[in-house]
Amino acid sequence: MIYLDNAATTKVRPEVLKEMLPYYEEYYGNPSSIYYFSASSRDAIDKARQRTARAIKARPSEIFFTSGGSEADNWAIKGTALALRENGNHIITTSIEHHAVLNAAHFLEEMGYRVTYLPVDKYGMINPDDVKNAITKDTILISVMYANNEVGTIEPIKEIGRIARENGIYFHTDAVQAVGHIPTDVEELMVDLLSMSAHKFYGPKGVGALYIREGTKIFPLIHGGSQERNRRAGTENVPGIVGMGKAIELAAEEIEGEYKRVSNMRDTLIDRIISSLPDIRLNGHPESRLPNIINIGVNGVSSDTLLLNLDMAGIYVSGGSACTAGSLDPSHVLLAMGQTKEEAKTSIRFSLGRYNRIDEIDEVVEKFTELVTRLRKN
Ligand SMILES: *Cc1c(COP(=O)(O)O)cnc(C)c1O
Repeated sequence: MIYLDNAATTKVRPEVLKEMLPYYEEYYGNPSSIYYFSASSRDAIDKARQRTARAIKARPSEIFFTSGGSEADNWAIKGTALALRENGNHIITTSIEHHAVLNAAHFLEEMGYRVTYLPVDKYGMINPDDVKNAITKDTILISVMYANNEVGTIEPIKEIGRIARENGIYFHTDAVQAVGHIPTDVEELMVDLLSMSAHKFYGPKGVGALYIREGTKIFPLIHGGSQERNRRAGTENVPGIVGMGKAIELAAEEIEGEYKRVSNMRDTLIDRIISSLPDIRLNGHPESRLPNIINIGVNGVSSDTLLLNLDMAGIYVSGGSACTAGSLDPSHVLLAMGQTKEEAKTSIRFSLGRYNRIDEIDEVVEKFTELVTRLRKN
């Protein structure tokens, strides 16, 4: 099989799994217990917190572990909106966010908040001027994703961060597709809150973190015990947290080499598909894009048909995102980029990763070209 759906999830690295196992088998103590046996669990969490902080240039005290990217997004948005209710009720986000952000924003609208969903251009890019113009005296939060999970466009986060800071408004970014793939520095980006998820960078599923800048007002989402310095209750997922720490450290160390290797495969795949097939659209920004995500529109063939046929050929890709798989609705991201429903329904995403090799790309191009040619004749 050829797995090209690394934006949906990745395989856990063996080095990561190896570090996790002792926390199932030997050091299973509850980090909140006071006897000596539990010190290993506590120390492991501390170490993972340091590693996570270092990877995004934050302080360990600013890292809060969660159950993943969705929880981090929900927490950032609902937690600040509730904490700042006295200051205003307006939130600015975009029309191309992951549903963890969009549906949290919809929920807040039902609770009486006002939300502005900014448009994007045909490349899926936000214009920082639109952010500036959307700010009112009631604006309490701006949330713009670092890189889009469907088309791979990297947003102008630094510019938006500066605007947010100049106006004294909290700025959250969903960096789930960026962390471990492109340099992520919370100071440079001027963010107050940043979401990440371990299973998008070769760590385990069900663990992530929210970076919360020192001094940021935020309410907990999960109430209970005093874990995560009273901000996120629940016995910690110690093996998961350990895995996340190891995975983020490895990703940060290897980021430059992997960026080159993966973006080279990406460019090869794009160039060869475009040169062998007529009527192909490359979705997403031509330059400001992630090294691993390729989204293309294949005029005349539906994504469902493509996916099914690629599946039979042992090639795993995705139409839009994994989270919208199974739904017949066209991608909200492609629609926001101005595509028609028909165009949006003929798009598929290839997302590459560290386990892909260039000979797989050759094979995919060959099979894909054959398949599309055959399907277009029908
Ligand atoms: C995968 C993803 C999420 C959700 O993360 P989970 O850990 O799967 O909950 C959120 N935002 C983006 C951009 C993603 O790609």
